[in-house]
Amino acid sequence: MSGSREHGSADTSVDVVVVGAGFAGLSAAERLVDTGRSVLVLEGRDRVGGRSLSGEVAGVRVDLGATWVAPRHTAIRDLASRVGCTTTDQFNQGRNVLWMAGRRRTYSGTIPKVSPLTLVDMARMQTAMNKLVATVDVNAPWETPGASGLDAISFGEWLDRKNALPSTRALMTVVSKVQWGCPPSDVSLLHVLRYIRAAGGLDHMLDVEGGANQDRFVETTQEIAKRVAERLGDRVRLGTPVRGIAQDDDGVTVRTDSGEIHARYAIVTAAPEHRAAIEFAPALPEQAQGLTRTWPMGVLSKAFVAYERPFWRADGCSGEAVTDTGTVFITFDVSPAHSGPGVLMTFCDPRVFDGFDPGTRRDLVVQQLVDLYGPQARTPIDYMDHRWGTEPFAPGGPHPAAGPHATVSYGKALTEPHGRIHWAGTETAGEWAGTMNGAVLTGQRTAERVVTLLSHDAQGAVSR
Ligand SMILES: Cc1cc2nc3c(=O)[nH]c(=O)nc-3n(C[C@H](O)[C@H](O)[C@H](O)COP(=O)(O)OP(=O)(O)OC[C@H]3O[C@@H](n4cnc5c(N)ncnc54)[C@H](O)[C@@H]3O)c2cc1C
Repeated sequence: MSGSREHGSADTSVDVVVVGAGFAGLSAAERLVDTGRSVLVLEGRDRVGGRSLSGEVAGVRVDLGATWVAPRHTAIRDLASRVGCTTTDQFNQGRNVLWMAGRRRTYSGTIPKVSPLTLVDMARMQTAMNKLVATVDVNAPWETPGASGLDAISFGEWLDRKNALPSTRALMTVVSKVQWGCPPSDVSLLHVLRYIRAAGGLDHMLDVEGGANQDRFVETTQEIAKRVAERLGDRVRLGTPVRGIAQDDDGVTVRTDSGEIHARYAIVTAAPEHRAAIEFAPALPEQAQGLTRTWPMGVLSKAFVAYERPFWRADGCSGEAVTDTGTVFITFDVSPAHSGPGVLMTFCDPRVFDGFDPGTRRDLVVQQLVDLYGPQARTPIDYMDHRWGTEPFAPGGPHPAAGPHATVSYGKALTEPHGRIHWAGTETAGEWAGTMNGAVLTGQRTAERVVTLLSHDAQGAVSR
């Protein structure tokens, strides 16, 4: 074990402790092992994958959390192919359904079939947004020209100031709920612009073909994490929440319920809000503490409804729908094949979903699918849902809903190391922040930075 510290025999001692076994933590550990370093990954949940989690409905494996990859998401694609996971196209043939202001319409492509007035307004708002997105410094958004002004208002206030039509606003609300897990009033304009820039632009963020929603993993995204963890073997400890990290000039001491681990460095991949559950000694500086308070996780829920067949395909529908009313606000077809069970993946607004009992949740979702796809939707063969806001450990997702001022005041703390503690995780990515791809990149990058520090430490020790 290179660079390990000598401690009491009951203690574990490694080069680097990684907190969290999502894609960032597992990728960091992989990179450290590749360079011959000793590493221990401590995960608070009893599973790996973090915001990637598999479920099963009518015998079909589905993604309860992260699902899609873009062609340009090469880091997660490389990782997946190294562990033998493969992609399949997101099905999008046929007409999409739009349910707005109580009216059902169908359309083709990404742009919903709305009134000419709404189309003009949407184009106007998209142009205005693209102009601002182009100015954003994705690695240091607080350095963006006019950052304070952009961060002083919410996305919702900006839509107001621009006099967005109610229909444009309704569509932007759908985008906000699925991306940041909150309505536009809860999230800062600068945060929104940064995420859109990091996602390759609004079109890339929303598109299926060529965009962020182009492909899914056949084996599910958590399966990728499971296979990487298998390779890491007993270097990954599950059910081990990190309670505290103390540090001195020599290294860090990581406190868990089952004992202490000593290391030269720690890499923490917990989302900003969840960093606060760790007691740091010395304490985090105010800016880093402020980040944990002002970057709360948004919340999102998903429900999967299975049918004997993907009957909507026979009706010429893609299974893709957007709605501004009720619980379900987006649907996608994640059926494994034409002939097998048909599975609709639905995004549900937690505010009108999470508080209900399982039977009511199911009824709400099925009724909306009847509205969208007709009476055949009334007789599913299976159903399951997942509420990210109710996870007992590290709840929330998909992303933090950083409110006004949070990025300019505290954003720097996303990546600024706290002594021997380095931060990774998708939120710390510049390009691709918010995606699995971003998570992998930050894990690899942070591991490389720590390897360089370990090498410097070793050289210093030799020359002393
Ligand atoms: C519903 C939903 C849909 C999504 N859809 C997509 C998508 O289609 N495509 C896409 O690319 N991304 C998507 N995402 C986002 C994607 O899941 C994340 O960007 C990515 O998985 C984050 O990886 P990470 O390693 O940075 O963080 P996480 O996956 O959150 O991993 C961090 C880990 O740290 C652990 N942890 C936290 N605190 C401690 C502690 N004190 N001690 C020990 N362990 C700790 C947590 O339990 C967690 O396992 C989605 C997310 C959700 C929730």
